[in-house]
Amino acid sequence: MAATPSPCDSSASASNKKWNNLRNILERDGPFCKTDFTPSPDILDFLQNTAKILVIGAGGLGCELLKDLAMMGFGDLHVIDMDTIELSNLNRQFLFRRCDIGSPKAECAARFINQRINTCSVTPYFAKIQDFDDLFYTQFHVIVCGLDSIVARRWINSMINSLVTYQEDGNVDPQSVIPLIDGGTEGFKGNVRVILPSLTACVECTLDLFPPQVTYPLCTIASKPRLPEHCVEYVKIIQWDKENPFSCALDGDDPQHISWVYEKALDRANKHNITGVTYRLVQGVVKNIIPAVASTNAAIAAACANEVFKMASNCYECMSNFMNFNDLNGIYTYTYAAEKNEECLVCSNAPQALNVGNPYTTTLDDVIHMLCESPKYQMKNPGITTIMYGKNKTLHMSSVGSIAERTRANLTMSLYQLGLRDGQQLMVSDATSPRTITMQLKYNLVDVEMN
Ligand SMILES: [Zn+2]
Repeated sequence: MAATPSPCDSSASASNKKWNNLRNILERDGPFCKTDFTPSPDILDFLQNTAKILVIGAGGLGCELLKDLAMMGFGDLHVIDMDTIELSNLNRQFLFRRCDIGSPKAECAARFINQRINTCSVTPYFAKIQDFDDLFYTQFHVIVCGLDSIVARRWINSMINSLVTYQEDGNVDPQSVIPLIDGGTEGFKGNVRVILPSLTACVECTLDLFPPQVTYPLCTIASKPRLPEHCVEYVKIIQWDKENPFSCALDGDDPQHISWVYEKALDRANKHNITGVTYRLVQGVVKNIIPAVASTNAAIAAACANEVFKMASNCYECMSNFMNFNDLNGIYTYTYAAEKNEECLVCSNAPQALNVGNPYTTTLDDVIHMLCESPKYQMKNPGITTIMYGKNKTLHMSSVGSIAERTRANLTMSLYQLGLRDGQQLMVSDATSPRTITMQLKYNLVDVEMN
């Protein structure tokens, strides 16, 4: 390889001059540099020829991320996305054109960047993150996420944390830590977080920051509606099936369907003195739309790309560690250090105690509800197994039909009836994590005599 010309080398070709701004940062010392930073031309070379960055998601954030990283000098990008391109993506997912509709996002995005920026090679994967194993993820220096799903975010967080290994003295092996930069947007709000697995707060440590999912209890919708959304949900869930006006399933893209729901929801709202049912609201509730704002995506992706750059080049301190952003009224942002939860399900080494009051009255179903509803766990559909008399025993597994049938009776049995004693370990699997979590039952009823 030819020697790298210095920033002031007048013979530098146009393509080399392109990186002069980066050289100013990477080849000079400065008052804001990290204390252990050694300026060197080798760093740009590392970014261009060695650093391997994985971008998860090729949607609104992903397009921005790929463009930012490619133009920042990164030469080896990989992108995973399981979606195909739709018309409604084109206003902000600028790597796609009308002729790309129906094609995989990852492949189109990679092709666009590869054609446009000749110093960068993007490898696409038209797949789910769950399709890859730990060997795949360990090859990357930094992983950056632009996901719109909390379950997927929790899964990748759990995967990256599970790659951490510990040295003999119990300390984390720094070589096994793959930094995870996570960006998220919703309308005019966004956030960026920097996660050093097992060293700083992970997604699961701060799970209670995520707002509860917008689902309304059926009883509220049916009998005590208070919000315009309740009225729309009622028509969507109950009235549509009952009256079946078009003899087909409700289609959020069919204006006739939406108009029908709108009329009925309006009737119901009037009956209950509720205002605020509009055609637009009906569309939003029926299609479960999270509005996407291009400028929010751009700002959040830029902040993420900046963190990837700092992480890969080691030139500046990384953000510590959670940035909130809001551009609804002007621009508001603040950054704080989210604290690591020492009992975190995912990133702590601590055994998980599952506190239960009375094992004689607590049923397995109660435990499952607790795992789903507690802000700390927020599981989706946990399967539970245990070891009894040296043998694996499945207590509940609703994701597999035959096992669900066979274990249904366990749900109404108390933990005592199931033979689960204080200190018994339960192995819990869920869609939010690639690994099984071991939990230890802890009965808090001190005067319950267990035999
Ligand atoms: Zn954690």
